[in-house]
Amino acid sequence: MKIKKFKNKSFNSTKSIHSNCGVFGVYNNPDASVLTYYGLHALQHRGQEAAGIVSCEPEHKGIKSKFNIHKDLGLVLSVFADDKILTDVLKGTSAIGHTRYSTTGSGDNKNNIQPFKVNYKDGNLALSHNGNLTNTNFLRNKLQNEGTIFQTTTDSELILHLIAKSREEDIVNKLLDSFSQVTGAFSICILTDDKLFAVRDPHGVRPFCFGKVDNSFVFSSETCALDIINAEYIREVNPGELIMIDRESVTTGKEKSFRISEVGQYKHCIFEYIYFSRPDSTVFGEKVDKVRRKIGKNLALESPPPVKDNEEEKKIGVINVPDSSNTATLGYFNEAVKTNKDIKHEIGLIRSHYVGRTFIQPGKDKRKMKVKTKFNTVKGVINNRKIVVVDDSIVRGTTSKLLVELIKKAEPKEIHLKVTSPPIISPCYYGMDFPSAEELIANQHDSNVEGIREELGVTSLFYLSTEKLLDSVPYSDPKTGYCTACFTRDYPIQIEGLEKMKKEQFDD
Ligand code: SF4
Repeated sequence: MKIKKFKNKSFNSTKSIHSNCGVFGVYNNPDASVLTYYGLHALQHRGQEAAGIVSCEPEHKGIKSKFNIHKDLGLVLSVFADDKILTDVLKGTSAIGHTRYSTTGSGDNKNNIQPFKVNYKDGNLALSHNGNLTNTNFLRNKLQNEGTIFQTTTDSELILHLIAKSREEDIVNKLLDSFSQVTGAFSICILTDDKLFAVRDPHGVRPFCFGKVDNSFVFSSETCALDIINAEYIREVNPGELIMIDRESVTTGKEKSFRISEVGQYKHCIFEYIYFSRPDSTVFGEKVDKVRRKIGKNLALESPPPVKDNEEEKKIGVINVPDSSNTATLGYFNEAVKTNKDIKHEIGLIRSHYVGRTFIQPGKDKRKMKVKTKFNTVKGVINNRKIVVVDDSIVRGTTSKLLVELIKKAEPKEIHLKVTSPPIISPCYYGMDFPSAEELIANQHDSNVEGIREELGVTSLFYLSTEKLLDSVPYSDPKTGYCTACFTRDYPIQIEGLEKMKKEQFDD
């Protein structure tokens, strides 16, 4: 199959896959924006391009409620570097926040930074969205024909317009009406003048959880953000559910739940377990740490480490690519050592967490410099030894190649690369930022592992099978299922124009 073209943006990074966003929301807390700030801090791994918070000062003694906003390009720490932004600007008792890595809309367009805030005939409205809609063109054309003027180039803005234009009477029905028109992946917080809503698509593609701290209600993409503010995890926002929190909820301690559509099989993003979510989070009802260890265990069962050539040889070093493969490597090692006592878990790669700009002209050298500033080897650990390197994924292969080059400088005897995911062969349309299909190394070699191994320059290369990956993840509910489309091209949610795109990409 020859890949002709694929329209998707490319980007410059040492990993090449990005989760697009983290969302967070708080209701009924005098420090709502401070809690949201900490929540976003814990969700920083889900988006490092921009961050923002909208807070709401509720109606008081006849003074109408007021929405405050602060957002900018950059990390959470820098966007909210001035304390006064949280204490003097973002006043209020409820707030929603967002960390962004763009998947639709231009990443450097400041208008595209969320949360979005609008004022419509029924008051204020703000929205934070994680995921991607899959009928964006249809909705955009429909709204445009009705005279809508867009402020951004994102899919998320469309939802605000649908809500504002809905002819339904009350806000709940406006939301139900709006979400009946959208398809795709969405975990969304919506703030109004007196309510906070959380809504999740019927397939539950992206994670979304619900917690409480004291008498306050909290929503978050991942549970690690509940932990940072000492909130108690209550449950997931269920696929296809709309949760409403209002003043009555504060009195009763109970959320109100509505259904946006019938729910079939869930299609959780399996990549959340492989790479995106933090290992200290619980997503899709299971601890990421536990699942990631099982993934590593299954990898060891499918592809054990090599054996020593002789008694004098050093033990085989099993090393992780920090931080994303740390947990899976433990799972790999703990299983492999049961049958091979001549292996040792080692820290052979050190990662710097303080990688900023690299002052080199754009192009390959820049990427090389970025890898070098991010990783270094512990030469004594690697030198003159067979090394098993466990990594979570290979995307374009650029980073893997540079990493292998780096490891080779420490002069190992052999490098055996074990990958905790199957080959990535197709982009994600549900909220992850992948390069184009033609840029994926697996496609460049027609999924020929030997060809990829040769290009990467390693002694051996092994990818976890899709079967063993699916065997590693939990099935806690009869409805539980997973999206594996980036490994299988089997897209569980209809995508407008997909057949045409596939035809263009894969025509011989
Ligand atoms: S295509 Fe891949 S990254 Fe996207 S939702 Fe499916 S499994 Fe996740």
